[in-house]
Amino acid sequence: MAGTGFRVNQVIGRLVPVLLLIYVGFAYHLVIYEHAYKHQFLTHNLWLYPLVHVFATHLVFLPALFAYLSIFLAYGVDVDSQGETREARPSPVSPLRRLIGARLPRPTFEPPPDIVRGHVLYECDAEGNPLRCWRDDCQGRWKPPRTRHCGDCRTCRAGLDHHCPWFDADVCAPTTMTLFLGFLALVPILCLLAFAPLLPTVWSHTTSIWRWANESEALRASWWSRKKSWIGGPMYRWIIGFYLAARSYPAEVEAESSKSIYFSSPNARPALLVLLAAGLSSVTIGLLFFTLLNLAKGELTIDTQRRKSYRKAMVSGDAAAAARLAPTRHFWIPLGDESDGGVVVSTLPEEQSYDLGSFWENMKAFLGWPPYSRDVLLTNWPIAKGVKERMLKEAQARSRKNN
Ligand SMILES: [Zn+2]
Ligand SMILES: [Zn+2]
Repeated sequence: MAGTGFRVNQVIGRLVPVLLLIYVGFAYHLVIYEHAYKHQFLTHNLWLYPLVHVFATHLVFLPALFAYLSIFLAYGVDVDSQGETREARPSPVSPLRRLIGARLPRPTFEPPPDIVRGHVLYECDAEGNPLRCWRDDCQGRWKPPRTRHCGDCRTCRAGLDHHCPWFDADVCAPTTMTLFLGFLALVPILCLLAFAPLLPTVWSHTTSIWRWANESEALRASWWSRKKSWIGGPMYRWIIGFYLAARSYPAEVEAESSKSIYFSSPNARPALLVLLAAGLSSVTIGLLFFTLLNLAKGELTIDTQRRKSYRKAMVSGDAAAAARLAPTRHFWIPLGDESDGGVVVSTLPEEQSYDLGSFWENMKAFLGWPPYSRDVLLTNWPIAKGVKERMLKEAQARSRKNN
């Protein structure tokens, strides 16, 4: 795949952030303006309760929004050998990106001299050469450990976890991983906090509408008894039935007097927004759980995906794909003096060269927390102690045999 042509991720990536924005707009309007202001303050003369609710909601909403925008507006920077950075692809939105977007660094085109001369231990190809990327405009660019090429962004990314259609951007460790996990954890809290005070009303309105949906003779004739109501399956039948019932709900039956139309007579919109909030929360909880599960094992999402593809290739007998996706890593091990050269040692099938042994140790590396530094992780990912020792021993044994 050269990264040209149609990519589903790119279409979803353009669409999802817009849909999310529309959803947030509707939800914000309902919770803050309609409920807190019009219903609680104007109708019921309450001020402390809605004020605390609005404040608490923003306390979670603003950090979540910041995390989202930081990832959404993340931009690539090229790091030169002096550690200076330069924006990789300046665009008209660059000032906004620089203001709030996270920086996704890409190391130098050529590896550092120590690696070129083979003086240090580094991940290499089977022949001992530094790993390089030939896709899109990378054209032979050096690939430090855990750097992967994103086909959607058409560039190499250090610590790429996955290209996320929810943000239309890359989630990378350690640069945007903290923001990503933070966002996933904040969304369910935000949904619960924002919608909790509305739930009793939404529930009673929903049951009222549902009762009306079943009682209304007109609706029975125009929807429930018609064959066309089954066209999209039972879910479709219920949702449309509910929607039609909400629309035809008798206006004279007011459950409660309110200055907000959403809280006086039963209305479908709050129920729909709460339902979507529940769906969003489930998705983020699931994503958080599976991401943490991967990170705990010292793996990024892309590693897991590649292993799955590798197994598939093995089963289907696709030798070329299997060779490309094989989880074996190779390391250049320098021997003795700088002039002695070195050998290439490969990992064993059961060896996870980047699993640091415990959940916290792996997390610290993935989040760039001490003792790991973001600058070092960019070109040099820590190798599991046991694996490194085993490889060093093998290298020494092989050099003794040769001498
Ligand atoms: Zn990407
Ligand atoms: Zn690349």
